[in-house]
Amino acid sequence: HKLVREAAREWVKREVSPIIEDYAQRAEFPKQIIKGLADIGAFGPYIPEEYGGAGLDHISYGLIMQEIERGDSGVRSTASVQSSLVMYPIWKYGNEEQRMKYLPKLASGEFMGCFGLTEPNYGSDPGSMITNFKDMGNHYLLNGAKMWISNAPFADIAIV
Ligand SMILES: Cc1cc2nc3c(=O)[nH]c(=O)nc-3n(C[C@H](O)[C@H](O)[C@H](O)COP(=O)(O)OP(=O)(O)OC[C@H]3O[C@@H](n4cnc5c(N)ncnc54)[C@H](O)[C@@H]3O)c2cc1C
Repeated sequence: HKLVREAAREWVKREVSPIIEDYAQRAEFPKQIIKGLADIGAFGPYIPEEYGGAGLDHISYGLIMQEIERGDSGVRSTASVQSSLVMYPIWKYGNEEQRMKYLPKLASGEFMGCFGLTEPNYGSDPGSMITNFKDMGNHYLLNGAKMWISNAPFADIAIV
């Protein structure tokens, strides 16, 4: 756990802290740090290695997120959304084909994901949501609106 924390802390000090204020003022995300986030195991640390994860425990996940948060809350959101709201549901509720297709690429940062729960009229109250989908035979038609979705501007996949 100390090693995991140190590695994350050193990386944040080197790669995030020096640049983040400038990016924040310009309202931009520093996409060049995505590879480094993957390298320190920030994407799905507790996902088993067979799916590209780091095979660490949840304490390690917490320590990595704490160190990233120390540098910047937005960067931590990017990593924890990818880990807890995109990789976890695919690992827990997806089928084997979906796990193999998405998890290794999400762990390496080749794919970025977002999670769309919150809606303009009903916030994050799932019971009131109006977004819905229809099975159109050869595709699904998704109708609705979401807001406040972290990573959405550059995400390759969305869990809705
Ligand atoms: C930086 C940021 C990133 C985000 N990223 C994501 C994301 O990636 N994906 C996503 O889906 N969402 C995301 N969100 C949205 C976030 O999940 C919601 O903003 C949050 O869950 C609260 O919902 P809301 O803003 O609609 O507040 P509301 O649900 O409207 O709640 C407002 C206040 O009213 C209270 N309240 C609400 N309903 C009741 C009730 N029935 N009785 C009593 N009190 C009540 C709540 O406790 C709260 O204090 C993000 C938000 C931020 C700020």
